[in-house]
Amino acid sequence: MPKRILETTVDWARLKPEEFQWVPCVLCGSFEYTTLASLVINWSEFYLVRCEACDVVWRNPIPDARFLNDLYSEKYYNVATHSPALVYQVGIADWEVPDQNRRRTKTRQEVRRWEERGLTPRDEFNEPRHLLEIGGGRGYLQRAAAELGWSTLGLEISPYGIKAAIDQGLIMLPVTLEELSEKFIPYRDYFDTVVFFDFLEHIPDPGLVLRIVKYVLKEDGSVVLRIPLSGDCPKLHLIDHIWHFSKTSIAALLEREGFREIETVDSGVFEAPNADRIDNLTVFAKKGPRQPLGTAV
Ligand SMILES: [Zn+2]
Repeated sequence: MPKRILETTVDWARLKPEEFQWVPCVLCGSFEYTTLASLVINWSEFYLVRCEACDVVWRNPIPDARFLNDLYSEKYYNVATHSPALVYQVGIADWEVPDQNRRRTKTRQEVRRWEERGLTPRDEFNEPRHLLEIGGGRGYLQRAAAELGWSTLGLEISPYGIKAAIDQGLIMLPVTLEELSEKFIPYRDYFDTVVFFDFLEHIPDPGLVLRIVKYVLKEDGSVVLRIPLSGDCPKLHLIDHIWHFSKTSIAALLEREGFREIETVDSGVFEAPNADRIDNLTVFAKKGPRQPLGTAV
């Protein structure tokens, strides 16, 4: 029997077993995995599994969009409403104004540092470059980028996050990247930079997102993403993180999807009071050359 590492109820998130699905490794497609531990959420058991061929760890089965929409309601953003067992499993600790200001300052510093890598807000004609942020939350990154001169657009599914962003004068569309693509909104080869911080680990199909990201990026466009690195067996964010990547597996996923010049940079630590810690990793990559039709990526 695998060790059980969390047992809790999430009172705002509906949980219907038929809305969950067993999935293979996002990197190699294998169902050959080792079970590391189990967790019980709302009396249903889930398993943390590791692909026997790759470094990828994920929670199986994984939820569908209805569960995720419910999970990312306003309560997700308010740690004051969480039970102590949940504070470091869901949500974002930015309810208090000092926390918000700290995040704002840190995000601005981070976006400014991109300029050292040539990711500048204006092109050679002093025109603003286009930045898309996916999973924009309350708009910290989009606001920082807009203040530095980028032309920005955000996507977010949480009505709460969207309202917070709109209140700051930002454009945050209430659609997923898949929906943006399905509606044939003409953003093909449009963005100079696509950014997602703390996003890829939350979504059911990271590979699909990366393929659509390539579609909306210009030929020489860049992707900047940040993920948590959770070590051998994750202990935090077991409810809202579906995928737990390592430096190796995130780089392998980007490479499989055709990105190049992949560079990983340590980007700070999230400290929890119970002495567990999460190291964050920022990954920079360039859109690779266009693949001929029928070429597997
Ligand atoms: Zn695998």
